[in-house]
Formats: sequence, C-alpha cells, structure tokens
Amino acid sequence: MDCLFCKIINKEIPADIIYEDDHVIAFNDINPQAPTHALIIPRKHISTLNDIKDEDTALVGHMIQTAGKIAKQLGFDETGYRTVFNCNEHGGQTVYHIHLHILGGKPLGWPPYQETLKTPIN
Ligand code: 5GP
Ligand code: ZN
Repeated sequence: MDCLFCKIINKEIPADIIYEDDHVIAFNDINPQAPTHALIIPRKHISTLNDIKDEDTALVGHMIQTAGKIAKQLGFDETGYRTVFNCNEHGGQTVYHIHLHILGGKPLGWPPYQETLKTPIN
C-alpha cells in the first residue's frame, strides 16, 4: 500500500519519533504549527475517521489517551494543548492514514480558521 504513514511505521521513511508502543506511534510534524506539533497514528492503516469500525474504538481511545501522556512527558499537560483530527477535503486532510495532531507549548488561537475565513460561516 502506498501510504506515507505506513512507510514511517515500517521505518522505510525516517521520522522524529517521540513515542511508540504496540498500537500507536507519535512523531514530530515536518511542518510544525506550534512549539510542539506531533502526530499520533495507529499502526493499523485506517484511511479516514469515516472508516473507523466497531473493533477500532479502543484503538482510537488509546490514541487520545496517548496525547495526554505525550503532553505530560513534554510538560504542557497542565498549561494545555490542542488535539485535532482532520477528515477528508473540507477538513484539510492531506494524508489518508488517520492521525491525531497534538499542538502545544504556547497559547493557541480559537477558532483556528479565523485568519483564513473569507466567506461567512453559513
Ligand atoms: P493533515 O493535513 O492530513 O491533517 O495532516 C498531515 C500532516 O502531516 C501535516 O501537518 C504535514 O505537515 C505532515 N506531514 C506530511 N508529510 C510528512 C512527513 O513526511 N513527515 C512528517 N513528520 N510529517 C509529515
Ligand atoms: Zn497507512
């Protein structure tokens, strides 16, 4: 399968890995949007949030729990951080292997689209 993140899992492409266990790996984003910007991905290939099956729900919960562990490891669990799943074109998904973004290390603006929003929300 020609999937960039499967290649990172299989160590065919290098990545700056900050956490790994039997089910997920996390590595720094190549184009960081915050002092820490990492991606938590399941070792199992799942293309989009729409493809999560009943048997994957514990795995996705584990991805979210891993975000908390990484935040604690990096020292911003108490100050706070953001997690994001993008889905398909309108969600801004560019890599079709689900990944949980974790951003932290500075106060983050909200809503995230304010600067680029050109048309009314409705
Ligand atoms: P998406 O836009 O799909 O939610 O997020 C994909 C993320 O993957 C982007 O933030 C992008 O910077 C990151 N990315 C794309 N290619 C690579 C790569 O080869 N290595 C790493 N570490 N990150 C990547
Ligand atoms: Zn994949």
